Amino acid sequence: MYTEEQLLPLSAVGQYIHCPRRFALLHVEQQWEDNCFTVEGKILHEKADSGVKESRGSIRIIRSIRLRSYELGVTGIADVVEFHRVLSEENGVPLPKALGKWRPFPVEYKRGAAKNQDGYKAQLCLQALCLEEMLKVPVPEGALFLGEKQCRIKVDFTSVLRVQVIESCHAMHRLFVSGITPPPTFGKWCASCSVVEDCMPKLTCHSAKCWLEQELKAIDS
Ligand code: SF4
Repeated sequence: MYTEEQLLPLSAVGQYIHCPRRFALLHVEQQWEDNCFTVEGKILHEKADSGVKESRGSIRIIRSIRLRSYELGVTGIADVVEFHRVLSEENGVPLPKALGKWRPFPVEYKRGAAKNQDGYKAQLCLQALCLEEMLKVPVPEGALFLGEKQCRIKVDFTSVLRVQVIESCHAMHRLFVSGITPPPTFGKWCASCSVVEDCMPKLTCHSAKCWLEQELKAIDS
């Protein structure tokens, strides 16, 4: 269990899965530069963060819900959580001024296209894990809204995805506590990285071996 003071941003798990160095640059060294990816992402989020509550038939929509998990050590705001009405014998939660039981269904708005989906799915799954811990109700699925394609895709929170997210959260905390930024590993994932200017992956070490050699040289000198 983590304490309130130890909680890290929920969105950081996607950054960690994309590249642990990216997570460390943003959250250990606290470097941040707006680029076209983060700016367009913010515009999409502003649309989702309007705080409006809506009702569409058997779905209730609530925007900007604060989530947290003490088991995984994260907190953050969910763009949208839909509550889908379920049958009386199914697992669900009561909602104010609404009859019956309702199951949470998180929806996350993202600028990127299909190539960045792993981190997005992990972040969405983490929202589901937070909702399960907070509301004590199963959250088996959610959806991503991809701004670039203007499409919505359903995401099943499989046991494989859940284990990946849980392990990534604990690894992210270990890295944060260590305070050590890992070396860069240059690859195709760098093309869409928001901290590529600070990281300079082509100019610095390309492998952990290279980084270790440099560290050892620094100790010896
Ligand atoms: S530029 Fe590449 S190596 Fe550097 S933080 Fe981003 S993804 Fe990681």
